[in-house]
Amino acid sequence: MKIKEYRSQFIQELLPIYDEGEAESFFYLILEEKRQLKRIDLALDPELVFSEEEMVLWNSILEPLKLEIPIQYLLGKTSFYGLDFEVNDDVLIPRPETEELVEWIIKGNSNTERFKDLKILDIGTGSGCIAISLAKNIPNAKVYAIDVSEKALATAKKNAVINQVDVAFITQNILETADLNQQFDIIVSNPPYVRNLEKQEIKKNVLNNEPHLALFVEDDDALIFYKKIAALAQKNLLENGQLFFEINQYLGKDMVALLEKTNFKNIELRKDIYGNDRMIRGTI
Ligand code: GLN
Repeated sequence: MKIKEYRSQFIQELLPIYDEGEAESFFYLILEEKRQLKRIDLALDPELVFSEEEMVLWNSILEPLKLEIPIQYLLGKTSFYGLDFEVNDDVLIPRPETEELVEWIIKGNSNTERFKDLKILDIGTGSGCIAISLAKNIPNAKVYAIDVSEKALATAKKNAVINQVDVAFITQNILETADLNQQFDIIVSNPPYVRNLEKQEIKKNVLNNEPHLALFVEDDDALIFYKKIAALAQKNLLENGQLFFEINQYLGKDMVALLEKTNFKNIELRKDIYGNDRMIRGTI
């Protein structure tokens, strides 16, 4: 079948669930991944065809897409901060908001004396996206990354290999950690922060497919991870060390109060591209 014809059919089939732009972007993502062709290649040669086997492959992606399985899980990969990451349903799909947090850490430190040889810890690393993109972009950084999930760490380790960086991965439950036993320049975390009361705002494809362990917290103790990590950071950050968090957009004020109470200085709350309170930094 001509690829061009299949393209119309593919998009048509997805229209009840996705808007046209989204359906089209899925088509080109798969085309690039599975056939190494870009939009321009198809425009230049409208006679290109799919073999029988290719049709089977495409349909095997189309069906789960109709069930709103995320495209990143179906392709087994995504891109974050310009790097390739393998993903599966053991890890949260890296989000663009988190790229903004990484950007803040890198840009905020790049013109300081200490930019070289920073010792960094990422807590709740998941796919490893924060730890790995920091390791890739900060010269000589020593990066450590903790997660409670062995399965997530297996994926994170593969991602460190794919991106050719050294990250020390540690299986550890942060809520049961009394001391990190090391001092860091930077501690960063994007812990679970979605409350049950916000569940109805979470898209069905996220809710039904992504690991709840990485997303949800109890309504009555929504800052459980932040309290614990801020307390550990007070002990385990070097002088002038920095703590960075991705946060729940509705808890910006509470996060400022928490960092103030835990004696952090230079507290700065930032919004993401969507205009939501999304990240915070404090120094000791
Ligand atoms: N930003 C994610 C979402 O909205 C949540 C990430 C997290 O809980 N750390 O799905």
